[in-house]
Amino acid sequence: MPALNAPLEEVTVAEAAFVVATAFTSEAGAARFGWLTVPLARLAEAAAAGLDAVHVRTPVTGLELGAEDEVRAVRTPEGTLACDALVLALPPNRLARVLGDPERFDLGAVRDFVARPIVDVHLWHDAGRLGFGFAALLEAPVQWVFEKAPGYLCCSLSNAGSLVHRPEAELVRTCWEVVVERLPGLRGARLRRGAATRNPEATYAPAHGVRRPGPATRLPNLALAGSWTATGWPDTMESAVRSGRAAARHLVARWSGGAGSARRPRSEGGVAVG
Ligand SMILES: Cc1cc2nc3c(=O)[nH]c(=O)nc-3n(C[C@H](O)[C@H](O)[C@H](O)COP(=O)(O)OP(=O)(O)OC[C@H]3O[C@@H](n4cnc5c(N)ncnc54)[C@H](O)[C@@H]3O)c2cc1C
Repeated sequence: MPALNAPLEEVTVAEAAFVVATAFTSEAGAARFGWLTVPLARLAEAAAAGLDAVHVRTPVTGLELGAEDEVRAVRTPEGTLACDALVLALPPNRLARVLGDPERFDLGAVRDFVARPIVDVHLWHDAGRLGFGFAALLEAPVQWVFEKAPGYLCCSLSNAGSLVHRPEAELVRTCWEVVVERLPGLRGARLRRGAATRNPEATYAPAHGVRRPGPATRLPNLALAGSWTATGWPDTMESAVRSGRAAARHLVARWSGGAGSARRPRSEGGVAVG
């Protein structure tokens, strides 16, 4: 359920089979869990170090197309930024907004993706270090618990459609009761403080019958990426990485010639706008 961020009743047989088969019938280590010990921002910073420029807090508002129906530039509130090729790695609803008229790009289906929420509940307690790092809870509204620091737990609640609009105090109380019951080190502990962070659009799933688009678009130098695109993986970080690589491969293949090939780039540099 957390792998797909959805209740079993809402997932397709193919999605469920993918998770079970990938985790349990592929290589021996496939069901291992990995979790970050540094903030996500460190990963973004490492990736940004290889780029020519990074424009943060700079939303792309539209595209400028050339005579051959190629993307020439992206529009931002700070002005236009010229590009040889573009990867749009946006959530489907933002992509629809940037394209303005997704049907014109043969991407009308991007409007038919359903957002699924995830809620994180942060608990600060007086029991000090519990020493488990990461725990999975079965048959509980909380699936993962991370010990982020001595006295600080972060609880992750997937498939949180019924929880995302609950009052913070209720979310904190529910999670505290669950962890006190499940984690022996918390017996007798006192909750010092709690907080909830909600992401109503944590992952996206296509509406029934809708196909996830691949990296190719009608435009020769425009590729799509994003964890919700057709990577074969559910909407996860793994899928996001795979989609980015697929988008890059697609553009490189286009530059290498063949029907509908794109013009070679003027430079090898990369710019991120977001
Ligand atoms: C709380 C939470 C917990 C999760 N837990 C897990 C987990 O344990 N394991 C896992 O694999 N996945 C997890 N996920 C899902 C995972 O984070 C996503 O699948 C993944 O980050 C999606 O990557 P992405 O690059 O496609 O999109 P995003 O990471 O959403 O990136 C899209 C970017 O586009 C930017 N943007 C939007 N509009 C514009 C615009 N107009 N112009 C420019 N930029 C724009 C946004 O600011 C954003 O930075 C979790 C998600 C959440 C929210």
